[in-house]
Amino acid sequence: SSKPSLRPLDASKLKFTKTTTPMAVPKPGDPVIATHAQCTDHMITAIWRADYGWEDPELKPYTNFSLPPTASVFHYATECLEGMKMYRGYDGMLRLFRPDANCKRMLASATRISLPAFDPEELEKLIMTFIATDGPKWLPEKGSSLYLRPTMIGSSASLAFQTPKECTLFVIACFMPPPNSPLELRLMASQKDMVRAWPGGFGYAKVGANYGPSLLANCKARGRSYDQVLWLFGEEREVTEAGASNFFIVWRTADGKSQLVTAPLDVKMILDGVTRRSILQLVRERLASGQGHLEALEIVERKFTMDEVADAVDHGRVIEAFAAGTAYFVAPVSAINYQDRDLEITIAKDGYAALIKSWLADIMYGNEHHEWGVVV
Ligand code: PMP
Repeated sequence: SSKPSLRPLDASKLKFTKTTTPMAVPKPGDPVIATHAQCTDHMITAIWRADYGWEDPELKPYTNFSLPPTASVFHYATECLEGMKMYRGYDGMLRLFRPDANCKRMLASATRISLPAFDPEELEKLIMTFIATDGPKWLPEKGSSLYLRPTMIGSSASLAFQTPKECTLFVIACFMPPPNSPLELRLMASQKDMVRAWPGGFGYAKVGANYGPSLLANCKARGRSYDQVLWLFGEEREVTEAGASNFFIVWRTADGKSQLVTAPLDVKMILDGVTRRSILQLVRERLASGQGHLEALEIVERKFTMDEVADAVDHGRVIEAFAAGTAYFVAPVSAINYQDRDLEITIAKDGYAALIKSWLADIMYGNEHHEWGVVV
């Protein structure tokens, strides 16, 4: 007899248990927000078992997990995550920004660490239901956002070095304190003894194993009053990413071309950021057609080195630099420490970063109706 097929993740089977002890929503400025640990009333969970497939997902009161000390995630880093936000628009609507992209990336990350597959559209539906439940109460203020953290862990009880036989998917919503505005980033280029990712590795996957080991360099940078690490790779000091964001530079080439340059995805060293790809697309579509009163830029996704950046700074060819990602959005870079000196970069008040930021914010907060802004 043929093996019965395993049950797929199915959002329509959601079991809903509403909390009987609703929590109070912290007001802006409440110190609990700074803990990065205040979540909302509910969470989504779904368990997968190798002999069964996906159990019915649940939307239930936010609570602690109970896991065996032998659970795969504690020993073999079988964990992947996503970072997205729900936005309360100026029109009062709740929106997600390109949630399909996050759900697909979650599947790619899960696959990289042997966690089970699922239909990304089902995950997206679960997230939508979750937001429809907690969003109205927890995100009352127009023009604000709440961070969402979909996560998958290998939860099976076994120290055996093997593909987990059980996995737990969960989604929580958490307060993220807003960065001091206007946020200007000072970056410290990584040293050769601290490599975040490498060709053939898993830098492209959003797995926890990429983050824990980068804390040491991050801590060192902060100790020297820099905000983030600019991750370099290899003998040529190739520029890859800035902290947990993609890195962009706008410069004029030696022969006078204005370019927006960012690291390429092809060798799978960097994360395929949703903000990154959105920026590239908007700049491609809008600047070329003269929108935004700034000069059009040639978009270049290529390997570039820290020496090229230093040379451009030294010759006054750098127009702007910025980091871009969900958590800190589009953040202009004012300095990069490299080989014991600070390369200073001007922050342009009405420059490219500001323009791009406004384009994206308009979509996220509903000032502009766009297919990327998905209404809940
Ligand atoms: N690079 C890394 C390493 C990240 O963790 C993130 C945040 N997810 C990004 C880039 C930016 O990606 P996104 O725009 O999808 O948030």
